[in-house]
Amino acid sequence: MKTAVFSTKPYDRKYLIDSNQHFGHELVFYEAHLNDQTCRLTEGFQAVCVFVNDELNDKVLNCLAKHGCRMIALRCAGFNNVDLLTAKNLGITVARVPAYSPASISEFTLGLILTLSRHIHRACNRTREGNFALDGLLGFDLYGKTAGVFGTGKIGAGTAKILLGFGCHVLASDLYENNELKTLGVQYVSRDELFQKSDIITLHCPLLPDTRHLINTETITKMKHGVMIVNTSRGELLDTDAAIFGLKSGKIGSLAIDVYEEEAEVFFEDFSSRVIQDDTLARILTFPNAIVTGHQAFFTIEAMQAIAQQTLQNIAAFEQGQTPPGLVHWENKNVTTK
Ligand code: NAD
Repeated sequence: MKTAVFSTKPYDRKYLIDSNQHFGHELVFYEAHLNDQTCRLTEGFQAVCVFVNDELNDKVLNCLAKHGCRMIALRCAGFNNVDLLTAKNLGITVARVPAYSPASISEFTLGLILTLSRHIHRACNRTREGNFALDGLLGFDLYGKTAGVFGTGKIGAGTAKILLGFGCHVLASDLYENNELKTLGVQYVSRDELFQKSDIITLHCPLLPDTRHLINTETITKMKHGVMIVNTSRGELLDTDAAIFGLKSGKIGSLAIDVYEEEAEVFFEDFSSRVIQDDTLARILTFPNAIVTGHQAFFTIEAMQAIAQQTLQNIAAFEQGQTPPGLVHWENKNVTTK
């Protein structure tokens, strides 16, 4: 199928081209994001393939429909950037990659937790400068700590299991309880109880109206003094200004974000020779006890192969008149992805 592929970097193209040997789609790659300025590039394409920071709003979807585009193939699990109701009304099918390698994100989450708990990011910088002093690097054991996993779907469940392996007491909050996790010792509690009792809070739920700014000034107030917060899910789960306030007061002891509310303009790009205009992001980067990674949690060989394969499979199924395996129902807009 003739598909315009947006937001592509060389690594995206490599895995899509490799996988396309089995499908034979006509793929045209664009580095640009899909938005109302770039939508004209979709003329003559039956499908578009997009990523997390492409904007599939009402205007863009109407433009796609006008150009005869009938399918959106997301190269990611989340679909919060698509106006699903408008897509449905325009007869545009939306498909995603629900699970490409949950382990990639769970493992990265633990990497962030250990980096913060043991100040590994600061230690690396120090030793490069020839400074082998330990002052300021005093960490804490994960063993015996209480970790709160918010959202125990594929990624959250994996994270919970790893945390159990470290000897943490794992609390969880989800709309649905996972019996396997309960058998392993995970304790389901209310949202508030998780916030109140956890030493470490890690977010693994989708971005939905109910979860936007889940971590805000009010919920931070309920947390333990010195709590660690990790967000590898979606930027808007965390009110970044509230988090900065929490870091300044010491209420938040450490913070790791792999996703950021305003990441679309910055993430996946090299700003090392430019001035970052986003003052909130710039402020977060100044804290010694905060780390920012650029939406990297998914980025493993295994995940890239699975994303390419499943995305092209979704397009192939649609082309053959079948239901794409990763079909997103428009009703999912306001409910969980389960
Ligand atoms: P999933 O659908 O398997 O699990 C999400 C869980 O969140 C479900 O169990 C669901 O019931 C729960 N949930 C939904 N709404 C909730 C609410 N209001 N309160 C409590 N729980 C709620 O999804 P997943 O594959 O585990 O992915 C989780 C999120 O991770 C995705 O939505 C995506 O935003 C993010 N993600 C990030 C990266 C990255 O590279 N940083 C990569 C993939 C996914």
